[in-house]
Formats: sequence, structure tokens, C-alpha cells
Amino acid sequence: MKTVLFWFRNDLRLHDQPALQAALASGARYLLPVACLPAPDERGAWGWERASPQRRAWRHGALRDLDRQLTRLGCPLLVCDGDPATVLPALAAAVGATELYCEDIAAPEELQQVAALRAAGLAVHTTWQSTLLDPQYLPWTVDALPASYTPFRQAVERATRVAIPAIPATSAAAATSASSATKAPVTAPLAAPSALAPAPLAPPDALLPWPPATTAAGPGLPGYRAALLPAHVDARTVDARASLPAGLQGGETAALAHLHQYLHRRLPDSYKRTRNQLQGVDFSSKWSPWLANGALSARRIVAELRAYEAQHGANEGTYWLWFELLWRDYFRLLHLQHGVALYRERGLSTRRATPTPDASAERTANLTRWRHGATGQPLVDAAMRELLHTGYLSNRLRQVVASFLLGELQGDWRAGAAWFESRLVDYDVYSNQGNWLYIAGRGTDPRGGRHFNLEKQTAEHDPDGVYRRLWTEGESA
Ligand SMILES: Cc1cc2nc3c(=O)[nH]c(=O)nc-3n(C[C@H](O)[C@H](O)[C@H](O)COP(=O)(O)OP(=O)(O)OC[C@H]3O[C@@H](n4cnc5c(N)ncnc54)[C@H](O)[C@@H]3O)c2cc1C
Repeated sequence: MKTVLFWFRNDLRLHDQPALQAALASGARYLLPVACLPAPDERGAWGWERASPQRRAWRHGALRDLDRQLTRLGCPLLVCDGDPATVLPALAAAVGATELYCEDIAAPEELQQVAALRAAGLAVHTTWQSTLLDPQYLPWTVDALPASYTPFRQAVERATRVAIPAIPATSAAAATSASSATKAPVTAPLAAPSALAPAPLAPPDALLPWPPATTAAGPGLPGYRAALLPAHVDARTVDARASLPAGLQGGETAALAHLHQYLHRRLPDSYKRTRNQLQGVDFSSKWSPWLANGALSARRIVAELRAYEAQHGANEGTYWLWFELLWRDYFRLLHLQHGVALYRERGLSTRRATPTPDASAERTANLTRWRHGATGQPLVDAAMRELLHTGYLSNRLRQVVASFLLGELQGDWRAGAAWFESRLVDYDVYSNQGNWLYIAGRGTDPRGGRHFNLEKQTAEHDPDGVYRRLWTEGESA
């Protein structure tokens, strides 16, 4: 009677879940779905918390939603505190499992976690599932990925027969182009499973607080139900000015509802025109927080976008959403190609390595001012305060503040990336690393880095100072 663990990582959903489907197809009699939570006070190399309360709250919301859905299928989610490399082998031993299924994440820390599980004796089956494009069906092997984004996109569009639609597109023409658009390498999303194997033992009240050694309550499963996760963090920390309204929750149910209302309200049609705005919920899709924790699959989004095009016509906005989702894929595939080299200070560039970060008092003070929105540059300060208080920032402002840290403050891009990791509710290891490398000129940008002229950006994107006033008036840094 085989028991397998299914470890939810950044794929907190049931729809379009090939890794879960692989676990279900393994012939296991019992399935134990599990997620691990790092310690809330975990600190990174730069000294600050690795995940802000906002980011943790977003993940907790997604775990609670996942637990509700799994419970409906008779197989509740077990949540364990601590390092998966320690927790999961102990859990597997407790339920007599030797196999674990999970998604593949091609970033150094996540790869090490899997290596540690294998070293502990578990048979780990991983499935690559976070991209829109299936790497197997790309026009090249990942080793031969085109050297920068534009040729990558063009080759993908040739292979998928996506083209920038004429503007404005007629719905008949759009329907024709849309129906021919979703060829491999974009595979169709899978439906959510309608049944799961049962959990190995124990009704929920047999669960014990982790670690089991701290209780004398007898045998049971280490861990607890997602329903027990603290729920208060959102309400206390989300600011009324936030672009992501406080009512939004982190799980799959909210993700699909958000996607549907976005399409129902025809917001793709205005996306190209509004996407560079700074403030508000509708100027961009706001899919990223759910894409980041996997509550929403990129393949599901594109399938729904194609159905939308078939109904309403393809246009610049629908094309541009695809264009941006391809950036997301590009940074993922770049990780498959270059791996740990993307985490070097020099990234992929040929600059001479600077082995130790410059920790001079001036640089440290500059970094602190940047993080807290106290640089004296109003647009940067407003943006950094929005990030600090809400965990979200528009793409335009992410670029502006990153450029300011690297250009004007001569800061270390890795510190900037680590601060974004801590604060962003949509933190995604691939997109964050990729974008920081890009702006620092240490990735694959053919222009060798991006520097934004602050005055020009301010005049173009906040000409009346509305955004700056929103985040700086009445606030002390
Ligand atoms: C320095 C820096 C760090 C970033 N860190 C992250 C991060 O940790 N997580 C993250 O999801 N995005 C990151 N981005 C990319 C981008 O800013 C966000 O994806 C976007 O602002 C999210 O809002 P949205 O969903 O409304 O995007 P939309 O504009 O509606 O775009 C639709 C989707 O396309 C994808 N996308 C858009 N722009 C990019 C991009 N430049 N790179 C990769 N994917 C993109 C996202 O999945 C997004 O949800 C970063 C950008 C910069 C400049």
C-alpha cells in the first residue's frame, strides 16, 4: 500500500497541476499533500527579514484556500514549520512513504532542497510546470536559448504563430488568428483533479504541533492544518492607498475570480495604453501575486486570453499581455540555461568580479535611505514607501527605483534584489533575479543595462505629482 507525499512549493493550486497529476498516476494508495513554512523571522545575507508580513500573509491566504479545496476532496493539506530538507524526510518516515512528488524549481536554493531530500533517501519526482512554454517543444534546446529577449520572442511567435494584430483588429480576423495561435510549445492547461487518493492516516485532530517530540500526545502526523495559520496580518498591514486592494486574497479561488473579472470588464483592451501607470488596481493585470505563488497558471491565463480574443477580437492589449508573459518565461528559461551563474555578482557579464560587497558606511546608509524611501528624490521615495507599506509596485517604478539604486547611489544590485524579495507579495525568484540583472547590465540585455532619467520619468509618468503626494504627504520616512 504505497503512500506518497505531494509537496506544494510555488504551485499552490489544483488546476493545471501536472506534478500533482503525476503523483496521482503513480499508483499510490495514499497521498499526503504538504507545504512547508520557513521561520517568520528568517533573515537573509543583508540582515533583513526574508519575507515581510505582507508576503507571508499572501502565502497564508493561498495555503488556506488550497486546504479548503483539498479538504473537499478528502485530503487536507498538512503545513509544517521549518526547512523542507529536515521536515519532509521526518514526515515521510512517520507515514511510511519513500517517494515525494513536487514541481521543479530551477533556482539554486530550491535545487539544493531537492538534492537534500534525495540525499536523505527519498525518491523525489519533479515536474517542470511553471512556464507557459513547454521547454521540450521549443525551437531550440535550452542550452541554445537566443541571446536576448527579442530574438527569443520572435522565434517563439513564429513557432506559435502569434502575431501583433492589426489595430484595431476586426473580430473576424482576430478570431481566425486566435484560433491558429495556441500551437505547441504552448500546451493546454489541465483541469483540476476531481478526486484524490485519501490521506494516509489520521483525521485532522490527530495532527500534532511540529516538532512531534515537543508533545506527549502520542503518535500522529507532525504539522497542522492551514486553517490554523494566522489570518490577521493582511488587515493590519495593507494600506488603503495600495494598488492591490486589501480584500484580495492569495489563493486559487480568488485568482480565478480576479482573472475572470479582468476579462469580463474588457480590461485587456486598455492594457497597452495604461500599463505604465503608477497607481491603482486596473492599470495592469495584477496577475503577478498569484502567478508567483502558483495559485494561477500562466497556461490557464493564455487559454482564457485566447478565448477572449476569439470572442472580442485580438488587439494590442491582448498581444501585450502575451508579450509580458513571455518575459516571465524568458527569465525562467534563462535559469535553465545558466543556473547559478545568474547569482554571481557579475552575473553573465565579463566584468571583473568584486568578491566582497562594499560595506562602507556611506553605501550602507544609502541603502537604508533607499529601502525606507528617504533618499530626497520624491518619485523614488514615494515608490519605496509604497513598496514598504503594501508589497506591490508598478513595473515602471520597479525599473525607476532599481536604476536609481544602481546608478545614482552606486548600490549593489544583489541588495536591491534581496529587498524586493523581502517586500514584494509577487516575489518570484526568476523574474526578480532576471529583471535586476537586466537593469544592472549583467544579464542578457543587448544594451548592457538600463539607466532611467529621473526627471524625464517624473515628467512623463507623474506630471501633476499625484503619485508623489499620495505616498509622501503627511509621512515621515
Ligand atoms: C527590478 C524588478 C524586479 C521585479 N521583480 C519581480 C518579481 O519578483 N516577481 C514578478 O512577478 N515580477 C517582477 N518584476 C516584473 C514586473 O514588474 C511585474 O511582473 C509586474 O509589475 C506585475 O504586475 P502585473 O501582474 O499587473 O503585470 P502586467 O503588466 O499586467 O503583466 C502581466 C504579467 O506579465 C508578467 N510580466 C510583466 N512584466 C514582466 C517583467 N518585466 N518580467 C517578468 N515578467 C513580467 C508578469 O507575470 C505579469 O503578471 C520585476 C521587475 C523589475 C524591474
